[in-house]
Amino acid sequence: MDRRHFIGQSAAALGMLAGFSGQARANLQKAEILVIGGGYGGATAAKYLRLFSNNTAKVTLIEPNASFVSCPLSNLVVGGSRTISEITSPYDNLSKRHGVKIIQDSVTSIDPVKKTVKLASGKTLPYDKAIVSPGVALMMNSIEGLAQANKAGVTLQAWKAGPETVALHKQLASMRDGGTFAISIPEAPYRCPPGPYERACQVANYLKQNKTKSKVLILDANQDVTSKGALFKKVWAEQYSGIIEYLPKHNVTAVDAKTKTLKFEVQDDIKADVLNLLPAMSAGEIAVKTGLANSNGRWVNVNFLNFESTAQKDIHVLGDSIQIAPAMPKSGHMANQHAKVAAAAIVAELSGWDVNPAPVLTNTCYSFVNEREVVHVASVHQYNTAEKTFKTVPGSGGLSPAPSTLEGVYAWGWAHNIWADSLG
Ligand SMILES: Cc1cc2nc3c(=O)[nH]c(=O)nc-3n(C[C@H](O)[C@H](O)[C@H](O)COP(=O)(O)OP(=O)(O)OC[C@H]3O[C@@H](n4cnc5c(N)ncnc54)[C@H](O)[C@@H]3O)c2cc1C
Repeated sequence: MDRRHFIGQSAAALGMLAGFSGQARANLQKAEILVIGGGYGGATAAKYLRLFSNNTAKVTLIEPNASFVSCPLSNLVVGGSRTISEITSPYDNLSKRHGVKIIQDSVTSIDPVKKTVKLASGKTLPYDKAIVSPGVALMMNSIEGLAQANKAGVTLQAWKAGPETVALHKQLASMRDGGTFAISIPEAPYRCPPGPYERACQVANYLKQNKTKSKVLILDANQDVTSKGALFKKVWAEQYSGIIEYLPKHNVTAVDAKTKTLKFEVQDDIKADVLNLLPAMSAGEIAVKTGLANSNGRWVNVNFLNFESTAQKDIHVLGDSIQIAPAMPKSGHMANQHAKVAAAAIVAELSGWDVNPAPVLTNTCYSFVNEREVVHVASVHQYNTAEKTFKTVPGSGGLSPAPSTLEGVYAWGWAHNIWADSLG
C-alpha cells in the first residue's frame, strides 16, 4: 500500500470511528437512566453511572427516604451500643458532587412496554434504561397472624434499618428482667445470612449487662446456622452461655398477638416477651409487581454480565432482589458490586463499546459478637462464561479464626468506606 492510500484509508477509518463514537456519545447523553431505590445497590449505581460516563449520562435516582440508613451495623443500634445517627448518611453528595438528579418519591408502577414509571406523587417519567434495586419485601403472609401482630405493634422485624430498629431496641430495654427475646429466621435465602445470629449476639450482650435473668431464643427454620456457624456457636458457648438458646429446624408458622405465642410446623408452642419475627422474603414489591420475579415468583433472574432482567429488556435489577449465583450472599457489599458491573455495562452498551466479558465480584461480611469483637466471612466470585453465572474462586476468601477487636476496627473502616463509595 502506498503512502497516499494508507493515509486515505486511515482517515476514512478514523472518520468512521469519530462518527460512530459521536453517535454513540449522543446515545449515552440522550438516554434517560432512572435508578429506583437509593440503597446499597441503587445509590452506588447512580454514582458510578455518572463516574463511568465522565459525568455525561443523565441519571435520576428515585428514593422515598430523605437519608440513607445502613442495615449493616444496625444490629448495634438494636443492642443499644450505637445510635441510629451513626449509621445514617445524607444523599446530597450524589447531586452536589456527582450531578445525579434526586427525586424523593416512590415508584408505584413500571410500564416496561411504554418504558415509563409512575410515582406516588402522580408524575410519570420516561426511561431508556431503568435500574431497579428495591431490596427485599417481607412476606408477612408466610406467618399466620404476623401482619395483624405487626399492626398492633406486638411484633417488629427491623430488617430494613430505620424507625423499627430504634423501636425494637426500646422493646428490649423495656422488657422485664427474666423475659425472653425471640428471634425467628426463615429458610434461606433471606437478606444477610449472618444478620440474625449477629442480632442475637447484640441482644444477648445487652441482656448480659442490663437484665441478667433474661434470655435470647433463636428459632431457626434452617437445619443449622447458615453463616459463620462454628464461630457463632463458640461465641454463644463462651460469652453467652445460659443467655442464648439455639433451636434449629424451628419454622414459625403462626403468631398469636394477644398471648405472644408462636406456633411451629412440628414443635410445641413457645411464648416470649419480645417477638422479632423474620418472615420469608422476596424481591422488593415493585420488582414483583412489574413481573420481574421470574424465579418462583420470588426473585429476579438477571443476565450476570449486565444485570438486565431476563423478563424485561432495559430493566437492570441489583442487590437483594435478584436470584443470586451459587454461594453469593444477599449483602450490601454484593449489591455495591452488582451496581458497578451494571453501571459499567450500561455505559458501554450506550457508548457502543464491548461489555466486560469476565467481571469479578468480592464480598466481605463482618458480624459484631459484642460491642467491639468481630468475625468476618469473605469470598471472590468470577463470571463463568460456559455456565453464564458467577462461581466462587477456589481458595478465595475465608473466615476469621476467632473474634477480635482488630476486626472491630476493620468493620467500622469497611462501613465508612462503603458509605463513602456509594454516597460520598
Ligand atoms: C441487620 C442487618 C445486618 C446486615 N449486615 C450486613 C453487613 O454487615 N454487610 C453487608 O454487606 N450487608 C449486610 N446486610 C445486608 C444489606 O443491608 C443488604 O444486602 C443491602 O441493603 C441490599 O441492598 P439493596 O440495594 O438491594 O437494598 P436496600 O439497601 O434495602 O435499598 C433498597 C432501597 O430501595 C428503596 N425502594 C424500595 N421500593 C422502592 C420504590 N418502589 N420506589 C423507590 N424506592 C424504593 C428503599 O427505600 C431502599 O432505600 C445486613 C442487613 C440487615 C437487615
